Amino acid sequence: MKHELMELPFEKSALEPYMSTETLEYHYGKHHNTYVSTLNTLIEWTEFEDKNLEDIITSSEGKIFNNAAQIWNHNLFWNSLKLNNWSQPEWKLAELIERSFWSFEEMKEEFKTQSLGRFGSGWVWLVQKDNSLEIYSTPNAENPLTEGGAAILGCDVWEHSYYIDTRNDRGQYIENFWNIVDWETVSQRIS
Ligand code: FE
Repeated sequence: MKHELMELPFEKSALEPYMSTETLEYHYGKHHNTYVSTLNTLIEWTEFEDKNLEDIITSSEGKIFNNAAQIWNHNLFWNSLKLNNWSQPEWKLAELIERSFWSFEEMKEEFKTQSLGRFGSGWVWLVQKDNSLEIYSTPNAENPLTEGGAAILGCDVWEHSYYIDTRNDRGQYIENFWNIVDWETVSQRIS
């Protein structure tokens, strides 16, 4: 089975000024694309050749795991973004956020703390576990498929996701991120 680079659900310029066209060109067009072509090469003639992405992630390790997980992570990431005009989560998601973190503001604070606390490359996740939400970060390509909970939202904190726009300032990247989270789509992941 050949894995394909997903189509972006928006134009590369659609997230300006919070995430630039140039970032999308590199982050999606080069980095994400490379994970896809590398995985296709790595799985040729292996037991993983006909497995879907999630099966590969939960049964592999090393390079195959890293590339497969990074494809899955970026798929979720791009599918969570849209210029949101300062909108906030509503309904069930808003309720769960209040129950789990007291307020939307405190949820954002915790998310930022986890982002800044991740040494080196990784991801920050908002996950659902039963009737509550949790935020945690993972190193490198690791994700909730192996760490537990259902991923509601994931944010890439690898340097390649912010170096063009905010240079070394990961905190500003997270501030920008809140302007481009598509809360409507994210809330549909609540079960
Ligand atoms: Fe990335």
